[in-house]
Amino acid sequence: MSATLELTLDLVRRASVTPADEGCQQVLGDRLAAAGFAIERLPFGPVENIWARRGTGAPVLCFAGHTDVVPTGPLEEWHSPPFTPTVRDGMLYGRGVADMKSGLAAMVTAMEEFVAEHPRHRGSVAFLITSDEEGPSVDGTKRVVEALMARDERIDWCIVGEPSSESQIGDTIKIGRRGSLSGRLTVHGVQGHIAYPQLAENPVHAFAPVLAELTSRVWDQGTEHFQPTSFQISNLNAGTGAPNVIPGELKARFNLRYSPVQSLEGLKQTVEEILKRHKVRYTLDWHISGEPFFTPTGPLQDAVLDAVQGVTGRKPRFSTGGGTSDGRFIARMGAQIVELGVVNATIHKLNESVRIDDIDTLHRIYLRLLRNLLAQAQQ
Ligand SMILES: [Zn+2]
Repeated sequence: MSATLELTLDLVRRASVTPADEGCQQVLGDRLAAAGFAIERLPFGPVENIWARRGTGAPVLCFAGHTDVVPTGPLEEWHSPPFTPTVRDGMLYGRGVADMKSGLAAMVTAMEEFVAEHPRHRGSVAFLITSDEEGPSVDGTKRVVEALMARDERIDWCIVGEPSSESQIGDTIKIGRRGSLSGRLTVHGVQGHIAYPQLAENPVHAFAPVLAELTSRVWDQGTEHFQPTSFQISNLNAGTGAPNVIPGELKARFNLRYSPVQSLEGLKQTVEEILKRHKVRYTLDWHISGEPFFTPTGPLQDAVLDAVQGVTGRKPRFSTGGGTSDGRFIARMGAQIVELGVVNATIHKLNESVRIDDIDTLHRIYLRLLRNLLAQAQQ
């Protein structure tokens, strides 16, 4: 049995349903410490987090991942107990085998092999591990990133070990994600009798030209890798229910999915400028649920491409689609980010599984990636 499979089994036996960690980070932290990493525990609320770093120089290559898993669902529908990892026909079954305990195991064993080969590697290797990726994602990576930024620590390149592959390992790599910015808008008016509009102020009428402008606006053309930025209203409410009353306020919720050609502040300013130009009286609360990230052609993308092609013989597809990951928080540090992991076909499902061979393939990909980026000895 390979060291990577063995470590995967150890982690899967721990029922770390979010935000529980069940000792996973202790196991990983001990391995990292033994390989010469400085380990920093950064618990926030009920969430355990580790920041581990080997070396003090730049560039900093960081592996990111989570030890928590989603709930099992009905136990009787699992063919084998979810926290008793079980091998059948070349597949490993258990909760978290794909999302993402095999990924954590592969990054740790790849690092062990790499530092044994290159004890005086270039730059630094780091690990950012949380137990709150599947839950509210408040006290996990987001808080660790804030702590790191507060002391000017940086990450140059980040490999998020989430299951990014679709049918074969390495077939898809995420190199970016759109940002998501939401607004809760209240337009203030003056309620009154519908027969005496001169004594009232209709917030629906005030908002109508703003709505027309926001929904017809071409924000950008998108890029080669991203769809154009999109503005969507998700909720729109006004009115008392009575047919003879001008409402006193209008409430709207909206969302912008935006590509990295836009900036957060720029989008906010544009929306507020339109509201002000139409002389709307309003209150607006913004919520950013994820900043966009994009890793352009460069050392990280080249290294990943070479590692995947060299190990699997396949040319990966670059994607910016799909759901969220903690990459959205790490992007705030200005890091280049890729998501690269095992096949995601069964994640969060009953009978979650991963091909045993893929676990070792991922280990080899990560090892080659480390060699590509950091093997050159420190000057
Ligand atoms: Zn995950």
